[in-house]
Amino acid sequence: MIDIAFEQVVKQLVGKVDSPRLEARMVLAFVLGKDCDDIGSGVFDLTDEQSKCLEHILQKRIEGAPLDKLLGEKDFYKYRFKVSEDVLSPRPDTEILVEAAGKLIFQNKMEKVIDLGTGSGCILLSLLADFPSLSGAGVDASEKALVIAAENAKRLGIESRCRLMNLSWFDDDFVQKTGAKYDMIVSNPPYIPHSDIDALEVCVKSYDPLSALDGGEDGYDHYRKIAEVAPKILRKGGYILLEGGINQAQEIRNIFEKQGFVWFQTLKDLGGIERCIILKK
Ligand code: GLN
Repeated sequence: MIDIAFEQVVKQLVGKVDSPRLEARMVLAFVLGKDCDDIGSGVFDLTDEQSKCLEHILQKRIEGAPLDKLLGEKDFYKYRFKVSEDVLSPRPDTEILVEAAGKLIFQNKMEKVIDLGTGSGCILLSLLADFPSLSGAGVDASEKALVIAAENAKRLGIESRCRLMNLSWFDDDFVQKTGAKYDMIVSNPPYIPHSDIDALEVCVKSYDPLSALDGGEDGYDHYRKIAEVAPKILRKGGYILLEGGINQAQEIRNIFEKQGFVWFQTLKDLGGIERCIILKK
């Protein structure tokens, strides 16, 4: 056994991460298989294996790995999601999209929603968990991502209302394979312009899948294609809610208006960036 003091762990993280005490608590809880609430500020007895695991996580974290990818979990909106390097880590900025979608689902008594590029499933599964009569489909071109999404659906106990499909909207048979029309489309597609990828922070560039980030030369490749297929899978009067990157909201709106959508609302994220664009068919 090895004794390790809470303050020793904190010390290693000070100056390296924004919330050293919180992260020390989260890492110790993970290593000891406990809840964060159970981690006080005392001294902990670690087995050799636990101690090695702790050192490994701290080392990787100090090198810039995101904490959620190291612990395999991330809290998003009201729920906890399993994550891995096969999925984009859920971001707090995406929560406004979920809240806006929830309002529309409630007001319009919607029954069916589809998430294009579902990844961990954080958007779709949050909505399904909030609305017990809602059913949904999650589409992703990555089979590995869908394995994570399926596990998250199971954890939340909503797998019977959730269909996961390994499809790409660039495929010719995409519309045919998605099946019936939906009341709502939600999507956080890859939107980073190709030439900006190199300059991304290590915690994004090296730990989130590139296929979930790279939006092509100008960043709008996926929006253009989604705007083309969306009218075919959305019912008349249905809504589409899209996440976009910095300064992209106007162009995203233009792309969808060209396909006959009517702009409804643009919402700012926690940093004041126009992040969520809502249009109506
Ligand atoms: N929000 C992510 C980032 O800025 C990008 C996600 C995306 O391309 N959809 O790192």
